[in-house]
Formats: sequence, C-alpha cells, structure tokens
Amino acid sequence: MDIIINSLYSNKDIFLRELISNASDALDKIRFLSLTDKEVLGEGDNTKLDIQIKLDKEKKILSIRDRGIGMTKEDLIKNLGTIAKSGTSAFVEKMQTSGDLNLIGQFGVGFYSVYLVADYVEVISKHNDDKQYVWESKADGAFAISEDTWNEPLGRGTEIRLHLKEEAGEYLEESKLKELVKRYSEFINFPIYLWASKE
Ligand code: ADP
Ligand code: MG
Repeated sequence: MDIIINSLYSNKDIFLRELISNASDALDKIRFLSLTDKEVLGEGDNTKLDIQIKLDKEKKILSIRDRGIGMTKEDLIKNLGTIAKSGTSAFVEKMQTSGDLNLIGQFGVGFYSVYLVADYVEVISKHNDDKQYVWESKADGAFAISEDTWNEPLGRGTEIRLHLKEEAGEYLEESKLKELVKRYSEFINFPIYLWASKE
C-alpha cells in the first residue's frame, strides 16, 4: 500500500477529505442510534456532534477528532488493522490501470490515505461499549493497540493524530488547512472547527 501510494502521482490533499468523511460517518451512526435510545449520547460535551481539527505547528501534528460512535478494540483491529481488507486488492488493481488515487474512498480503504502525509499515525478511540484504546502504526503495515492510560479521556469518539512527514510541511499552514476544510466541508452535516497553535 505504501509503495502504491507513494509511487503514483497523487493529490495528497484528499487525506483530509477521507478523514472528514469518516468522522461524518461516525457521527451519523451515533446520531442514528440516538433516535431510538437517547442515552447513547451521554451528557455534557459528549452530546456535541462536531468535528475538531487541530494543528500543532511545533510538534508537526495534525489531529482530527469527532464525537461519533468510536471504535472498540475489536473495531480498531478489524477496520484499521488489516491491509488485507477486502477493498485493498480491488483498489490496487484500479490504481495500476488508472493511477487515480482520488478513487481511494470508493474502495473502503480511504483511511490509508493518511500515509500520503504522515509517517506515523495514532488513532485514539472510545466506544460506549469498551475502554479507550490507542492504535498506532507507521506506514509499514504493522500496528500496535494498547489500552489508553495516558491521553485525556475522549468521552466518546475518535481522535486521529497525524505525525506529518518532513515533506508535508504545507499542511502546517493554517491558510492551506482552511482552504481544504472549506472545500471538503460542503456536504458535511456537522460543524467543523479548526484550531492552529501559534508558532
Ligand atoms: P470506509 O470509510 O469506506 O469504510 P475507510 O478506510 O475510510 O473506509 O475506513 C475504514 C473503517 O474504519 C470505517 O468503515 C469505519 O468502520 C472505521 N473508521 C474510520 N474512521 C473512523 C472514525 N473517525 N470513527 C469511527 N470509525 C472509523
Ligand atoms: Mg472512509
């Protein structure tokens, strides 16, 4: 996957579209459940169905968090853990003929586009039915999962931390992110907030 992503011409910007779309899907899921069971939303900040994007220029970390349904430990393994997911080979085949990475989202492997811009990714997630976990992986296909005993509790939802590659410096610019968020938020039914740290 790494080779394919990096060897073909690609529009790196799409990683943010894929993350926003996953956050939006997760929010849709919890909102849907809440129609029949109000309790699932919890209280306080947990009830705010929004997407927050934060830029830490000093640490070169771009993070996106949602208060969506979140992932259990099993979900993290099943949904993010395996490069051998069903869509992968279909996507690889399509890429070899079209070279259009833009299609990544259609194959159920959109998450992997994070490795266009990041060399190390942490996914922190809390689902109502499980404890909070951290999934982490470099672009090499191996991953680790541990119970999260050190980050702030999320309440519910998912935070994805992208440790940006040296050559992905353009995503440390607030103006660039603003432009992308504006472009990709058009069809998203939840508010998206963007924060950038001072340099
Ligand atoms: P797709 O969105 O087409 O299913 P992705 O590669 O983008 O494929 O994501 C894989 C799966 O990982 C999703 O189907 C979902 O189950 C899970 N996932 C990804 N991001 C999130 C998130 N922010 N919250 C909850 N689940 C997520
Ligand atoms: Mg997706």
